[in-house]
Amino acid sequence: MRLTRYFLPILKEPPREAEIVSHRLMLRAGMMRQEAAGIYAFLPLGFRVLQKICQIVREEQNRSGAIELLMPTIQSAELWRESGRYEAYGKEMLRIQDRHEREMLYGPTNEEMITEIFRAYVRSYKDLPLNLYHIQWKFRDEVRPRFGLMRGREFLMKDAYSFDLDQAGAQHSYNKMFVAYLRTFQRLGLKSIPMRAESGPIGGNLSHEFIILAQTGESEVFCHKDYLDFAVPGANVNFDDVAGLQATVDQWTSQYAATSDMHDAAAFAKVPADKQVSARGIEVGHIFYFGTKYSAPMKAVVATGAGGEVPVHMGSYGIGPSRLVAAIIEASHDDAGIVWPEAVAPFKVALLNLKQGDAGTDGACAQLYKDLTAKGVDVLYDDRDERAGGKFATADLIGLPWQVMIGPRGLAEGKVEVKKRADGSREMMSPAAALDLLSK
Ligand code: ATP
Ligand code: MG
Repeated sequence: MRLTRYFLPILKEPPREAEIVSHRLMLRAGMMRQEAAGIYAFLPLGFRVLQKICQIVREEQNRSGAIELLMPTIQSAELWRESGRYEAYGKEMLRIQDRHEREMLYGPTNEEMITEIFRAYVRSYKDLPLNLYHIQWKFRDEVRPRFGLMRGREFLMKDAYSFDLDQAGAQHSYNKMFVAYLRTFQRLGLKSIPMRAESGPIGGNLSHEFIILAQTGESEVFCHKDYLDFAVPGANVNFDDVAGLQATVDQWTSQYAATSDMHDAAAFAKVPADKQVSARGIEVGHIFYFGTKYSAPMKAVVATGAGGEVPVHMGSYGIGPSRLVAAIIEASHDDAGIVWPEAVAPFKVALLNLKQGDAGTDGACAQLYKDLTAKGVDVLYDDRDERAGGKFATADLIGLPWQVMIGPRGLAEGKVEVKKRADGSREMMSPAAALDLLSK
């Protein structure tokens, strides 16, 4: 993409309304725009990141055996009356009336709707286990929308719902999501720590929030330092291996880890002092087993094979891709701007023409741009008529993993300069070597 033909509205001044660094950087880098309190438009650069995050989330959900569908944002109040949540949900729910004065709502979550879909088609234990998910916008009328995408009112969520015959099956479904989440956050360049969460009326230990550590996080968290070094299962993990997955989950829940809601100071005090981590964190995912809470009142039942029928055991599993855009920036930035992990970077390479209008640099840039693009590398070519300093600043701000700088001085020796955004290291090399390095 040539920058002169792109839409990248960079802000020169740091926006005043932004309190945390991710919000500030996203506004400055032209990634998004606020349209109302807690409601944002994704501009092209931000949208590319959001799509990359969604794709990784999707790949890991699919790998674990979950199946994607797409439910609507608007739901009928009728459905929520069946579960008893229509009145219970309170002011966070955006309630709407259609022209026939039917009560509708903008979905804050989808347990009721997925249960309705399930009960319409599934009758037998033979069709279990089943895990259905979608990636869809949600609306929650948060009291205090703030920190940009971190706590929006309209936000994107991946929500999955599992259905099993019994609690043992549900535990395995839960473990699958647990491992899929570890893999997802690792691929996004994040270290996530599963922390025990409120498990509601069902009891048991089956609810975890996945937290990443960041100074600006809204939650106060306490955990054992070893979590930062635990190994995440590889891509070849066997999701049908019941004992294997359980062993992984057991390890990842073996040490102390809790948010302030669940914190037990006495238990934390038993963690050796040099292993105690007390920090702030961002909740990026939440998984939950809730048994028959929805299936019983909504009559989502299956035949057991032994002559009877039982309500199915369910769980739900959320990830916030729009919050993740901000969370990744909180975890990865410096004074000059964003430092994207390669997996979610909006483009891989920033190509900077340091002397726009010079036949030599124009030609060399055009050639490398063409060669990289032909190899499938996403390049943002800064071909603006602007001084080199401005181009450096823009490239650092938007944080693409690689910068290639082409100027007359280097070209005189047949070289271009390649800079790695993450550590600032630079190297002069031939355009052919740069092509080789960047298309690996
Ligand atoms: P929180 O405790 O942060 O209010 P929650 O527990 O209400 O979140 P869940 O219902 O568990 O949220 O939603 C699943 C995921 O959706 C969360 O882990 C988070 O990543 C994302 N999410 C929830 N609320 C918001 C929001 N207001 N803005 C952006 N993302 C959100
Ligand atoms: Mg939660």
